[in-house]
Amino acid sequence: MSSDSFDDLQTNNISLVPHVVGRSKCIAKIAFSAGSTILSNSSFADVLLPSEKSHRCDYCHHLSGSDSLKRCTGCASFYYCDPTCQSMHWKSGHRKICGLYNSYTSASSFQALEEHKKMDALLLSSLIAHATLVDANERNSDENTAFLTFQALLPGPMAASAPPICPKHSFPAEVIQELYSRFENNNFSIHSHFKTYAHGIFPIASRLFNHSCMPNAAVKFILQVHKPVKLEVVALRAISKGDEICIPYIDPALLQTRTTIFDLTYGFTCCCPSCNVVRAMGMIPEPPKGQVEFQAVCKRLREFVGVMRLSPFSTGDDSLFPRDLACVLHESFISTLSEHFSAASHDGQYDVAMESSKSLSAFYQLIYPPNYPQIGLHILEKAKTCWNHLVRSTHTMSIVTELERSLVTAREVFAVIGLEGDPDNGPVAEISTLSDAKKSL
Ligand SMILES: [Zn+2]
Ligand SMILES: [Zn+2]
Ligand SMILES: [Zn+2]
Repeated sequence: MSSDSFDDLQTNNISLVPHVVGRSKCIAKIAFSAGSTILSNSSFADVLLPSEKSHRCDYCHHLSGSDSLKRCTGCASFYYCDPTCQSMHWKSGHRKICGLYNSYTSASSFQALEEHKKMDALLLSSLIAHATLVDANERNSDENTAFLTFQALLPGPMAASAPPICPKHSFPAEVIQELYSRFENNNFSIHSHFKTYAHGIFPIASRLFNHSCMPNAAVKFILQVHKPVKLEVVALRAISKGDEICIPYIDPALLQTRTTIFDLTYGFTCCCPSCNVVRAMGMIPEPPKGQVEFQAVCKRLREFVGVMRLSPFSTGDDSLFPRDLACVLHESFISTLSEHFSAASHDGQYDVAMESSKSLSAFYQLIYPPNYPQIGLHILEKAKTCWNHLVRSTHTMSIVTELERSLVTAREVFAVIGLEGDPDNGPVAEISTLSDAKKSL
């Protein structure tokens, strides 16, 4: 079996075909409606961020009170929901790591690593531990395919040297280095409610999907007790048969730095419609420093987005994007605007907060595809601002209306990506809480 056979990566719904410039592209074999799941893949290896350690199960990532998780009696460094998760993790590789873990992490060679490299070292250790079992024919064919696929991924452009790893193994150093060279441009940040809590390896998803800054699909993670975390690729909008399916590798809002990230970390030049427009703008000017001038740019942005039928960033037609708005593409524009919104919201300046919120929404509508989770997160923040104002001050019908409208829109956006991450306390739960509270007004 070829380690990179397109056939292995076919499903009834998608197929991998050659790409004109890139290596390949993933094509829809059927039409997908917004919200449908395109691919579902279990983690091959993953590692929790240090801040999550002892708060989540090391196997299924279930978030729990630190008292209720059981510690591995061997290394006292891994935590589990119960003996089932412990046993599954033991079989999937922990038994190769457990006895050596503490001496490995306390050694100066590990301690000297930068924090991100420590994460890489632990993930590489977990990958090798799992792969050793794959090698020993202890894993099923799906996992063999996943490991072969990982080995066949394109290496990143930077040749950083592999960190020391924990488990004993029979892989030559060159193979370890080869595996590590796939890390930076292929691994995923695992998130719950759109906040990263772990890093993971999902080889099939890495192999299939190219990047777009105006993607038609996005990645979410499903957590289930006693099961490894699952990555799902979800259609953000209706996708026609024959369309290429793309996901964002990084936040598309990094309008200026993203080109460098693609170049240095991923080794490609993004040719998506959004990048075409940004490139056509040339040198991006800074937004005006003065309050009045800054507000005038915001007003102009809202007017433009209000009448635009389809974002130029999704069509790639730069002639439709006004040159006098180029400064909104400067990354300081969005950070300044977000600061205005947060400060006004915090200080109870309702009108100022709403003004900033409308500008932020316009900006998101311009640069993100419809139903992108960041749009929903901002609308939820807006709804919270409305609510805080209603409980603090005399409430007016217009604020109640704005709250209702925001909750409806936020719910619509999150309905597309669907449930993800931890079952509790996510944006969908917050929308429900606010909707219930609103009834008491
Ligand atoms: Zn668990
Ligand atoms: Zn252990
Ligand atoms: Zn792009």
